[in-house]
Amino acid sequence: MTILAIGTSAGEQPLDRMEITRRAVGAHDVAIDIIYCGICHSDLHQARGEWAGTLYPCVPGHEIVGRVAEVGGHVTAHKVGDLVGVGCIVDSCQHCAECAEGLENYCDGMVGTYNGPTADAPGHTLGGYSQAVVVHERYVLKITHPEDQLAAVAPLLCAGITTYSPLRHWGAGPGKKVGVVGIGGLGHMGLKLAHAMGAHVVAFTTSEGKRADALALGADEVVVSRNQDEMAAHAKSFDFILNTVAAPHDLDAFLALLKRDGTMTLVGAPASPHPSPNVFGLIMKRRAIAGSMIGGIPETQEMLDFCAQHGITSDIEMIRPDEIEAAYARMLKGDVKYRFVMDIREMGA
Ligand code: NAP
Ligand code: ZN
Repeated sequence: MTILAIGTSAGEQPLDRMEITRRAVGAHDVAIDIIYCGICHSDLHQARGEWAGTLYPCVPGHEIVGRVAEVGGHVTAHKVGDLVGVGCIVDSCQHCAECAEGLENYCDGMVGTYNGPTADAPGHTLGGYSQAVVVHERYVLKITHPEDQLAAVAPLLCAGITTYSPLRHWGAGPGKKVGVVGIGGLGHMGLKLAHAMGAHVVAFTTSEGKRADALALGADEVVVSRNQDEMAAHAKSFDFILNTVAAPHDLDAFLALLKRDGTMTLVGAPASPHPSPNVFGLIMKRRAIAGSMIGGIPETQEMLDFCAQHGITSDIEMIRPDEIEAAYARMLKGDVKYRFVMDIREMGA
């Protein structure tokens, strides 16, 4: 089927309307009419060719929610009319150790929702800034939030799982002091989730104007990271720090805040490297730096269910498809409260 999408044919060109095709529905496929798609900073990195290897045309978008329009003959988990989500993964090898454990995000054959290899035209996957998508049932998530929250559920499919997974893996919970660095799309979800898990949560921001919001989002304390006195007051005190910043910066300033055996996990994926951290800052307290990428499909469903139970959604600003470039410009300035979501129904016929 031919549908409308928002994408670009070169890194230096603005995103604009284009036509793309979706494959016919196979036996294990689910066809979804997309209603909303969240705008992740990764979309911008990819569309503008800031990471190596962007394939054009590029249609970003991996925070997809919509309604099932058609299912293949062997599909059992989803039916026409269901509200569903698709995150960053649309395929994987399905037989390696990672896939067997539900860690498809770490499968060497993982296929991303955009820019991944596929037999479908044009030879790489095209994402959710589009009217419809066809996805193998294994990678389709169930949404149990009330329907009127659907737009605010979309960002959970990337920003939600990318923060939930490391918070769980590194044991955020009662009695733990957890920092979240960068209060954007990922960071604001990190605050909500770490708070709901019962941790003592400290928000780190470069934006003085986000102080009050960070407290409302779930932080117990807020530190403006440019203020050295505020930073020093938290020296050697954190069990875990989740760093979501989308640009290179001094990691040592945050490593010094970890207590013995503390870990700082990087989820932000800047286009160029951070300055190398000082080794002594790590060895003196047996501190660790780690990374984490989104989360597997079972954990993504667990996160969606956890959020539905706790009444957690994203704080969003809705945009029309033709406002995407203005939204990117504001996202680059850290000026979004706290995730843009595109209303796909405005894409027109
Ligand atoms: P975002 O909404 O733009 O938020 C990033 C935040 O970082 C900003 O709001 C800002 O918060 C802070 N920041 C501080 N200095 C900055 C600077 N010079 N430039 C940009 N931001 C700065 O982005 P996002 O969607 O949350 O994504 C964050 C990063 O995570 C991106 O690199 C993205 O590609 C990556 N990502 C990784 C994964 C994964 O699986 N690991 C998944 C999704 C996204 P303050 O104003 O509070 O300082
Ligand atoms: Zn993302």
